[in-house]
Amino acid sequence: MTFTRDIGAARITQLTELARWPFPVGGLFPSAAEGAERTATTLPSRFVDPATGELILAIHMYVIEIGDTTIVVDTGNGNHKQRPNLLPHHMFDTDWESRFAATGVSPADVDLVVSTHLHPDHCGWNTRLVDGEWVPTFGRATYLFGADELAALRSLVSSPSDDPVASDLVRMYHDSVRPVLDHATWSSVEDGHLLAGSGTTSVVLRSARGHTAGHQIVEVRTPDGGAILSGDVIHHPLQFCCTHLIQGGDADPLEARRTRDALLERCAREGLLLMPAHFPVDEPVIVTVDDAGRAQAPTLFDRT
Ligand SMILES: [Zn+2]
Repeated sequence: MTFTRDIGAARITQLTELARWPFPVGGLFPSAAEGAERTATTLPSRFVDPATGELILAIHMYVIEIGDTTIVVDTGNGNHKQRPNLLPHHMFDTDWESRFAATGVSPADVDLVVSTHLHPDHCGWNTRLVDGEWVPTFGRATYLFGADELAALRSLVSSPSDDPVASDLVRMYHDSVRPVLDHATWSSVEDGHLLAGSGTTSVVLRSARGHTAGHQIVEVRTPDGGAILSGDVIHHPLQFCCTHLIQGGDADPLEARRTRDALLERCAREGLLLMPAHFPVDEPVIVTVDDAGRAQAPTLFDRT
């Protein structure tokens, strides 16, 4: 499952770490009413397992090549990461490294690594296990962390808690973030940071808070459109049908919804392709709005 799309001077390649990542509706959206579960059963089978009713997600990352610069946006879950409380993230063992090589880009070619946010499935391949040590996967790259996101994670790490999810986030810090801070080139960045540009095409980080305190998206802009690599602003196509759904990991559900609504509206108005982290699709998502102003994704739902 992968695609390559040229957006102005930028070439964007989707790289899938995991093509099928199932969750019960109530596991992904704990506040889901029965109505949402019923709606889920009407979705195409590539989005919901008809036998179990589980929602199907995927884990994608994106490689952007523009001018002389190669950027990786999100680094997936990574292999061999101990997540005893966040079991969907626990101890992956995939052939991601050989599939990454098949994109034609070597980890050593990567200039910049960006995580939309610091959850286990977005910064895992920041590091890989070598002789029992976690070492940066992209040895020559500069890793860019959202300043607020990194500060929130460091604060969590420095305030001991019995919360099981927090303890796995601390594990994530020690195996996927701290080795980068200690052994790689890194920088913390703010809203509006220009990652790269070539001609009239630019690649810019934008703040998109709600799912986490410092969530950011990557905007690839050309004069007549572009694409948004949207991380976890939206998790699953079901959220086009039930826009109120709160994902279990949303730190601030109201802000997450405002951010999601605004982003989808902007994609429709400005003709921006949506490239989410978890939709089980191998094409960019085209967003429109209906007469009532509700976001729609017609191309998602016309295949089974
Ligand atoms: Zn995620």
